[in-house]
Amino acid sequence: MSVLNQKTLSKKVFFEGIGLHTGKKVSMTLLPSGPNTGITFKRVDLDNNNLVLPSVFNVSNATLCTTITNDYGVSVSTIEHIMGALYGLGVDNLLIEINSQEIPIMDGSASIFVDKILEVGFDISEVPIKLIKINNKIEVMDGSKYISIEKSNVSLDIDFEIKFNNSFIGNQRRKINIYENDLSDIFNSRTFCLYEDIENLRNMGFAKGGSLNNAVVVKDSELLNKEGLRNNLEFVNHKILDCMGDLYLAGFKIIGSIKCSQGGHSLTNQLLRKIFKEKINYSIFEINEKSIPHTYINKLPLKSIA
Ligand SMILES: [Zn+2]
Repeated sequence: MSVLNQKTLSKKVFFEGIGLHTGKKVSMTLLPSGPNTGITFKRVDLDNNNLVLPSVFNVSNATLCTTITNDYGVSVSTIEHIMGALYGLGVDNLLIEINSQEIPIMDGSASIFVDKILEVGFDISEVPIKLIKINNKIEVMDGSKYISIEKSNVSLDIDFEIKFNNSFIGNQRRKINIYENDLSDIFNSRTFCLYEDIENLRNMGFAKGGSLNNAVVVKDSELLNKEGLRNNLEFVNHKILDCMGDLYLAGFKIIGSIKCSQGGHSLTNQLLRKIFKEKINYSIFEINEKSIPHTYINKLPLKSIA
């Protein structure tokens, strides 16, 4: 039942680009890794203490992007799009080497990561995948922002809503089943911002590498990118990509049902921290042919989890 077994890449994949916020040139290599090693980032520009794990509790900053920091103060930032790609493609184990602090932004979406990974394909191990099953409803509220998770049978559903005062973006809402639905529009959707926020972002030290090549920019009721949007719900689809990437910091794929209104990196991280605070909120289990009723084995949702 190999579709329920842990996956890595069949060979290494190389990316080059710039960091969205630092503006710095960066090279990133994805290297195959054995079962039960998980996803690990390695800062190859540093000689010591250079491993940084994408864990819920290593999130040191979630303003505009997700930054993880190890016990020695070594960080990797803007990890959410590569993590979203790995979650969506079901990659369990991978070593990610980078020679700078920030993951390359590429075109602002996860599509270049996804395409290159699919080009090399996967190596499927004999070891079963592990899953986190949510047992109780958990909620986090922050002003008008809201996120909750509750239990579901075998899916991860994300129901996401954004409400912007800007007339071009406006309100968008989408519900998606991560293991069953086509994720192409989620992977393709780019980072976005309002034109009037750019100066402020730059003053705060963000978005130094930002341009119309890696972000959708909206000015009043107008889109500044000449090529237009990639899909009708590109804004909320990108938020779902971010959410999926941030959720993967749980360590394993999740069985649960998420509802989110106007959330972002920080709210998703607060939700995960709240889940893991109490053991009764979740169960971790291995899933393989022996651990599930045989009637479930041929069901599409379970197959597509892997
Ligand atoms: Zn993003």
